[in-house]
Amino acid sequence: MQNFNFHNPTSIIFGKGQMKQLDSQIPQNSKVLITYGGGSVIKNGVLDKVKTELAKSPREVIEFGGIEPNPKFETLMKAVEIARAEEVDFLLAVGGGSVMDGTKFIAIATVADEFKGEEEKILGFGFGPVPVKRALPLGTVVTMPATGSEMNMGAVVSRGEDKMPVMSPLTFPKFSILDPELTYTLPKIQVANGVVDTFVHTVEQYITYPAEGRFQDRTAEGILQTLIEIGKTTVDNPTDYDARANLVWCATMALNGLIGAGVPQDWSIHMIGHEITALFHVDHAQTLAVVTPAMWRMRREQKREKLLQYAERVWNIAEGSEDEKIDAAIARTEEFFHSLGIKTRLSDHSINEAGIERIIQNLEKHGMVKLSEHGDITPDVARKILQKAL
Ligand code: NAP
Ligand code: FE
Repeated sequence: MQNFNFHNPTSIIFGKGQMKQLDSQIPQNSKVLITYGGGSVIKNGVLDKVKTELAKSPREVIEFGGIEPNPKFETLMKAVEIARAEEVDFLLAVGGGSVMDGTKFIAIATVADEFKGEEEKILGFGFGPVPVKRALPLGTVVTMPATGSEMNMGAVVSRGEDKMPVMSPLTFPKFSILDPELTYTLPKIQVANGVVDTFVHTVEQYITYPAEGRFQDRTAEGILQTLIEIGKTTVDNPTDYDARANLVWCATMALNGLIGAGVPQDWSIHMIGHEITALFHVDHAQTLAVVTPAMWRMRREQKREKLLQYAERVWNIAEGSEDEKIDAAIARTEEFFHSLGIKTRLSDHSINEAGIERIIQNLEKHGMVKLSEHGDITPDVARKILQKAL
């Protein structure tokens, strides 16, 4: 196992009706900016519930809505202006990954004097931490299980055709309220997206090369098998509490640092997927479903031992040669995504060879030229992977 530091300061408040703990989580007499997305939380009443809880103690509350999926720098800067002008001292994100991620950016940009007037530079540090000394504290009320943003320090922010990671230990939420019932109103396709995003977060930290992280491997396999067990149920029966609760917890646990500590991590599927979203506006998870099978087919040698372990332990494939087992595991993964209503080819999203060239140019522009756990996915290799996904 590799050396690691593990620190996760986010309190998780999980279960039915847990919104009632919101009042005690946010300091009294603070000035709170509630952030939300395109209006689902207005329609389903979640925003009203949040405001009712916040009104239980003396504090000022203002709102900023309209954070779009794949949150845009320009939109977030409007919230930053408000947070500065109003001297906000706590941010409460109410929504999915886009709202939580956007709020992390707002938390940094509002008080980062180092970047004042050139906040776009906050998007330039990749997986390295943004060099800032402070950020506004934030909490989240999660309405969509997918990204794990509720218990990690990462965000993804878009500016034009650039979709960039933003990392800072200062943006771990102080707390996250995870009430599976708040996710019941999600459209089926968004639930399916959440299952796939969680699945791929897990494999980005598991299907690499062996590193004797036995606990991490077994935990990753537990998440994958849980998703396979409950994925279709929670898409088809949104109000099945136990299925949904398991998805919500898997989504958080897949990307809170636990399964990735002490083991190699890949993330090339995500980095290539981000370019597809930025250029062609395909939902985040749906880009991952396209890249994953092609990635494994192309990287069979580099990932052989872990692909075999995945076949045997996650899919219980016992028969056949090594290659047959790996092929069967990739096919089963595709069937699983299809069973959720998620497509796995670029052509399903009307992306052709010319589109692949644009994706490759964007990867180069963003310095994504040495991806994967081996750092050997150059733009040429990425092109071959994408051609396999046509
Ligand atoms: P999302 O973009 O936050 O939300 C997708 C859609 O679901 C929105 O239209 C939203 O509508 C709707 N929605 C959310 N909750 C709902 C509910 N309870 N009922 C009805 N509709 C609801 O989706 P996401 O997959 O959670 O986030 C995707 C973003 O996260 C991408 O930008 C991706 O790159 C990023 N990401 C971040 C991390 C990380 O670690 N931070 C990891 C992976 C991906 P409204 O806008 O109206 O609310
Ligand atoms: Fe993701």
